[in-house]
Amino acid sequence: MRTGILSLVVFISLFSFGQKPKSWADLPVESELAARSFPSQLRTQLGKLRDAAMSDDYAYQQLEHLTDSIGPRPSGSAQADAAAHYVADELRKLGLEVKLEPVPVRRFVRGTEAAELVEYPGQVPGTKQKVFVTALLGNSPTPEAGITADVVVVNNFDELKQLGRDKVSGKVVVFNEIYDGNKAAAGQAGAAYGEAVKYRAAGATAAASLGAVASLVRSAGDGAFRLPHTGWSADAPIPGGAVSAEDAGLIARLAAKGKVRLHLTLTTQKGPEAVGYNVVGDLKGSEHPEQVVIVSGHLDSWDVGTGAIDDGAGVAVAMETAELIHRLNLHPKRTLRVIAWMNEEMAATGRDAYVKDHAAEITNHVAAIESDLGAEHPLGFHAKMSEAAQKQLAPVQDALLPIGASLLMLVPASPETDIEPLGDKGVPALGIWQNGLKYFTYHHTPADTLDKVVPEELKENAACMVVMGYALAEMTEPLAK
Ligand SMILES: [Zn+2]
Repeated sequence: MRTGILSLVVFISLFSFGQKPKSWADLPVESELAARSFPSQLRTQLGKLRDAAMSDDYAYQQLEHLTDSIGPRPSGSAQADAAAHYVADELRKLGLEVKLEPVPVRRFVRGTEAAELVEYPGQVPGTKQKVFVTALLGNSPTPEAGITADVVVVNNFDELKQLGRDKVSGKVVVFNEIYDGNKAAAGQAGAAYGEAVKYRAAGATAAASLGAVASLVRSAGDGAFRLPHTGWSADAPIPGGAVSAEDAGLIARLAAKGKVRLHLTLTTQKGPEAVGYNVVGDLKGSEHPEQVVIVSGHLDSWDVGTGAIDDGAGVAVAMETAELIHRLNLHPKRTLRVIAWMNEEMAATGRDAYVKDHAAEITNHVAAIESDLGAEHPLGFHAKMSEAAQKQLAPVQDALLPIGASLLMLVPASPETDIEPLGDKGVPALGIWQNGLKYFTYHHTPADTLDKVVPEELKENAACMVVMGYALAEMTEPLAK
């Protein structure tokens, strides 16, 4: 097949600009590299793998075990270790050579999390209002008895700067940056998250630099169920937490009317150092075993949910990639490496350990794929790669068109965290691009559970991972750099 999606897009845009192609023969064709890289047999195999994924519940069964039975998998926990051993054993059953590669992790000990408004405009005498709060990882705990202070609300860092030390010192700063649900509705959830999450990452250090006694950020996501979202933040000398989006709005409205005082108790602390594991499983290449294609997700999760969408689903579809290739008795030319990363959430030390331990073979990495945006309907892929590589993959887009996952959008930075150092070293880095309509409603909350995953959509994600992963491992020409 010589006319792909790209050709159709160009064809339609020619019409829309009023320029008619002279004949069908003038339609643009695939790049020569794409045509050479995808012989017809490979195109047929990609269709078969896609269809097999759409009728396979392997990933869902794996995800059910990881989330319902093993449960939350915070780094350094018994569940994270059990999950690593479980995934390793399952991959061995599929004929992969599997190693558990040590990753330094830091346990954390979640303590008391409580907040209440103790003074506010219109308060009924003798009453208080509970606020839903969770601790962020990097910040310092409050005393057991908590702290009480006046609140100052800002919408962004500029407002904080303008207030200055005089108005911030001794206060609890509440960052009320609003997550842009319209962007998420347009398939740009990652961009919306990026804009909001910087306050979670750096809010407490910024507030501390102006003498604040604590920092609370609005949860970076939709406020659907008054759930605060936990997560990583930079180390700061003051207590820091996230309040639910609803409570950030509540505090902001009250503070606009008058004085608000808040009592806050957050005693979560970093615990002892420990060792976790990346699971690294190789399906050895039949012709070029030294050339590596990574398919991956991260196995660790936050403690509050069971890590179904973040990111048990990514691990499950990476596992299913190996399962489908095994079941269809295919033997790709290059090594397909399934990785279940450890410690993405807390410090991303799993990726650092990998690039250190595999430094000698990084130049042999053909590409790396990670899925870490949940399991909703995929639109295609975000990719940090060259335009030549993008054009070379047009037949993959064709293979994913029937399930609506044919987009391949170039992005300037690695689309996913664990493969970022590889992307920085020139390895093409791809992330499955889910529509993300609800991902940031649930992730990092107690509501990240299996029921949020729609089995049919998980199958589409598995189809994306196996079609792209197998194509990269089997293409006649390796992916252009
Ligand atoms: Zn994640």
